Amino acid sequence: MNIHEYQSRELLQKFGIPVPPGILVQNPVASEKAFDELQKRHGSKVCVVKAQVHAGGRGKGGGVKLVKSGDEARKAANDILSRPLITPQTPPEGVPVMKLLVAAGVEIEKEYYLAITVDRVSACPVLIASSEGGMDIEEVARTKPEAIIREPISAVAGLRPYQARKICYFLGFKGTQVRMAGKIMHQLADLFLKADANLAEINPLVVTKATDEHPDGTVLALDAKLNFDDNALFRQDDVVAFEDPTEEEPAERRAKQFGLSYIKLDGEIGCLVNGAGLAMATMDIIKLHGSEPANFLDVGGSASEEAVTEAFRIILADKTVKGILVNIFGGIAKCDTIAKAIIVAAKEVGFTVPLVVRLEGTNVEPARKILEEAKGELPTMEIGSDLTDAAKKITALTGAPAA
Ligand code: ADP
Ligand code: MG
Repeated sequence: MNIHEYQSRELLQKFGIPVPPGILVQNPVASEKAFDELQKRHGSKVCVVKAQVHAGGRGKGGGVKLVKSGDEARKAANDILSRPLITPQTPPEGVPVMKLLVAAGVEIEKEYYLAITVDRVSACPVLIASSEGGMDIEEVARTKPEAIIREPISAVAGLRPYQARKICYFLGFKGTQVRMAGKIMHQLADLFLKADANLAEINPLVVTKATDEHPDGTVLALDAKLNFDDNALFRQDDVVAFEDPTEEEPAERRAKQFGLSYIKLDGEIGCLVNGAGLAMATMDIIKLHGSEPANFLDVGGSASEEAVTEAFRIILADKTVKGILVNIFGGIAKCDTIAKAIIVAAKEVGFTVPLVVRLEGTNVEPARKILEEAKGELPTMEIGSDLTDAAKKITALTGAPAA
């Protein structure tokens, strides 16, 4: 699960990580007021107005604007809110912006990258850091991997002090920066482990310009991106409270309500399958025969008729779907349940596109009978004798070249 930057900042602060003061707003007038407020309370001469969307790369897409007056803050807000934000991480048409964070501007001496994620190869959390942080970190990762340090973290003991020192040395922190940055690393590791995060990223972590009070500058987080393990949300009420359904794909949201695992893809064959492994195999075989899957959809082991009917509604509502392949292995789920759901969906939404059904396992005989008898209501349906036959049929019916 993803959350917004303004929410991530709340969590960062809860774990002691310093961030510049900020105010969440939803319209240009409030943005102007926020600027005045930050100026009055914190003496900020400059602020940043930042689009709050789940996608990153906002700076590059015009979603982060530096402003020097209330007037500029209002105009920047008006500008960002008036059109979808397109960044390297959004779909090509962009995403709507509903909220903005007005944050106190910071005089940056240098930007660093600091993140913790799960390393699937070594099966443990890993801290990743670079002294070349900021908006081009992806480019640094591609062209200068030696500028990035990776340090495994024990999920039991957390980050060790010697590790923090090693990272600080690698990043080139000096004087009082070492203590400040080291502390932030420990706090971030603490947050990552306690909040069941998949990713806790601060980019940029900055050292501010030197002042009389802080000759080495101060270290603080200007941007944060947190992502959490969905399977641990049952014990993370604070995180669940941050959920923003408007940021999710509507079909994926509906699927979640019915306990379906659905992910929208770019192809043309809608798939309805039970079991994640079978769903992966079904997508593979569709590709093998020259088509592309329009979705990943696992209706689960014990799918109810209602959930399966909803699954068909979701697939049929997708206008890019040119054909549907149903592949069910009846183990706990019963084939006749699926057959009945196909008929309910046919009555309700109607299959205007070709439908190929392959059923095997528990109650397959009654299921075949149900479908046979409903042929009048399912004019576009064909039965696949096995998975290869079904994949070939749906590919041929939707006009993809035979492979
Ligand atoms: P994104 O990662 O989505 O592009 P960031 O919040 O990292 O958005 O902002 C992009 C850049 O804007 C940062 O790398 C930093 O240089 C600048 N920036 C962000 N917040 C502030 C701030 N409070 N003060 C000064 N500069 C900032
Ligand atoms: Mg950033």
